[in-house]
Amino acid sequence: MAKSPEVKVAVFGRAGVGKSALVVRLLTNRFIWEYDPTLESTYRHQASVDDEMVSMEILDTAGQEDLLQKEGHMRWGDGFVLVYDITDRSSFEDVAPLRSLLEEVRKPRHVPLVLVGNKADLEHARQVATEEGERLAADMACAFYECSACSGTAGTSGTAGTVAEAFHELCREVRRR
Ligand code: GDP
Ligand code: MG
Repeated sequence: MAKSPEVKVAVFGRAGVGKSALVVRLLTNRFIWEYDPTLESTYRHQASVDDEMVSMEILDTAGQEDLLQKEGHMRWGDGFVLVYDITDRSSFEDVAPLRSLLEEVRKPRHVPLVLVGNKADLEHARQVATEEGERLAADMACAFYECSACSGTAGTSGTAGTVAEAFHELCREVRRR
């Protein structure tokens, strides 16, 4: 039997945007309220993407790394999930510099990425409009998802489905190249 393709996925974004919560949601379909913010972990996750099993190795970064560590993570990954918090404009403003650093580190290769606006359940506290996320994604020529790590139903529908869809789309983007 053919070995399923491996995709290394690194999740980036300011501390507190919900990177760990998203990864835990993807892996267990559960939401964990408190997660050690300084923790950096890797996880293995198998998923069927377009009828093919894909083996993801997911690096959940802490978001507090120094430049050298960040560059190391950027060299390690095949694809990247850039996460911001829709209720925190400064986390959105962190995305473009992260993208520039990625481009610089991976030059001249194309950098597969997806943009994720998390905490969509906190509509009342929204600071970043959906259109702004869409515009940034268009600038970066990548897919864009708004989702919530904490409100979601099991399976592949609802926001939990959106979280999975973001990771699956990234796998497609990696494998396209
Ligand atoms: P990280 O530093 O990016 O890994 O962020 P965490 O996953 O540790 O989450 C930071 C905080 O945001 C925690 O208190 C989580 O409970 C909360 N959080 C994460 N995702 C969501 C979400 O989608 N909605 C809401 N309301 N809170 C979230
Ligand atoms: Mg974390």
